[in-house]
Order: sequence, then C-alpha cells, then structure tokens
Amino acid sequence: MTVPTHRIGNVELVALRDAELQVPAADLFPSIAADDWKPYRDLLDTEGRLHLTVGCFAARAAHRLVIVDTGIGNKPRTAAPLGNLWGHLEEDGVRPDEVTDVIISHMHFDHCGWNTLQSGDFWRPAFPKARYHVSRVDWEYWTRPQALAANPHITDCFLPLEAAGVLDLHAGEYRVGEELTVFPTPGHTPGHCSVWITSAGQHGLILGDVAHSPVQVRNPGWSTSFDTDPARAAETRRQVLERARSMKAQVIAGHFPYPAFGVLEVKDGKAFWKSLL
Ligand SMILES: [Zn+2]
Repeated sequence: MTVPTHRIGNVELVALRDAELQVPAADLFPSIAADDWKPYRDLLDTEGRLHLTVGCFAARAAHRLVIVDTGIGNKPRTAAPLGNLWGHLEEDGVRPDEVTDVIISHMHFDHCGWNTLQSGDFWRPAFPKARYHVSRVDWEYWTRPQALAANPHITDCFLPLEAAGVLDLHAGEYRVGEELTVFPTPGHTPGHCSVWITSAGQHGLILGDVAHSPVQVRNPGWSTSFDTDPARAAETRRQVLERARSMKAQVIAGHFPYPAFGVLEVKDGKAFWKSLL
C-alpha cells in the first residue's frame, strides 16, 4: 500500500484522495478582506487560490471497515473535475466488498460521489455489503422537491441507497462500532456531522467540512460561502476545536492538505493545525 496511513489506538486510518479543487480564497471566504490573508500567504498559490484536497478516509477497526465520505465521484451530472478514487481504491488497500459502513458527513456533491456506481440506466450502491449512515436532518433538507431539482447528485448518489434498503438515517450521537461516534456539527449544512474516534486511550476527530482550510483553525470565525448558516458554522467550529484541544485529539479533515492527519498546537494563545506527516 502506498497511501499514507495513521493509527489512533487500534484504529488504522487510510487517507484516500479523489480530486483536488482550486478555489479563489475571495470566493470561498467572501467576507474576509485581502489584507487579513497576509499572515497566511503560504496557504495560497500565486493567484490567491486555495488548493482543497477532496479527501476521504477508510477506518479499519475491530470487525469493521468504515469509509468516511466518498468524494466527487464520476457522475456526469456532477460538477467537474471528476474524481478518480475508484480507480485506485483496491491498490490503496480497500476492497469495496469488505466495507461494512459508509458514513456521510453531509450531503454536498463532493462527499458522496462514489456512494453509487452506474448499472445500465440505474445507480447501485458501490459498496455492496455496507450500511450507509446519513443524518436525518440533512436527508430531510436535501430531499425537499426544490433541493432535489437543484442538486441532481442527490438523485444519483442518495435515492438509490434508499431504494436498495441500505440507508440508515440517524439523529443525535450515533455509534458505528466500538470506536467511532458520529455526532452533529451543524452550520455547514443543517445536518452536518463529524466523527469522533476513541481507541486505546487515544482520540481522533474527522471534521468533515467544519473547516475547509487550516486557516479556520486559527480563525474559527471565518465561515465559507458554502455554509448554509455561517454564524452557526462558526460557533460549531469553536466548540468542536475546543473539545479536540482539551481532549488532545488528533484533527483530520478531508479538504486539508493531503493526507490531512494533524494535531492542534497553541502559539501566542491561538490554536493552529500542524500536519503529522
Ligand atoms: Zn466539502
């Protein structure tokens, strides 16, 4: 296996990469002035763009192989660039028929693309033996008629799961096996969830889109243009990062610089995210 892996207690995490997006910082953070970026120029390219990994994680735990988010995928109706995760998944050590659970942090197109594969005119679950775990709050929000009409990826990536009987809708805190707990972190979307990992005395936190860039660890008040409720997203970010700091949890985020395994450190009274690899 050539992809980066990392352990939290007895849980082995594999960093999977589906694509990379280049997004102008001014588009992602429209309320942040150009001058406020000065201390963080190293996060931007020469054209002022952030490079966001579209990352997913596989977690190998006792009797389970769990995938957290499934990238952009290759759905023709989904925005380009198309993802390439499926082409190297087995090489990365993940056999689709071994996956027991798929956790979706939220129902945006860049987190669900490989939920399904095309089969004739239909989409079928890509992980044939897995249960797919989705927030009930997000489900009810994104399956409203106007949301379905505006977001074809919901029809391609989520409705086939319901039809196949492999969808588990959850609310509140929700355990997936012994080590993983899915918990609500609303703001980016109404039902957004993160994943807390506890194993052998160690803790890890897979943020989902609580943060898109390490700059938001320094500045939890910086919400993105994709946050459905920016104020709530900022409050959630503060709370979750404080919990991670106080529990000494490793902090992992799919859009952070690959492979996105990191820890929180404090300098001049402010927390920042430091890559572990
Ligand atoms: Zn995202």
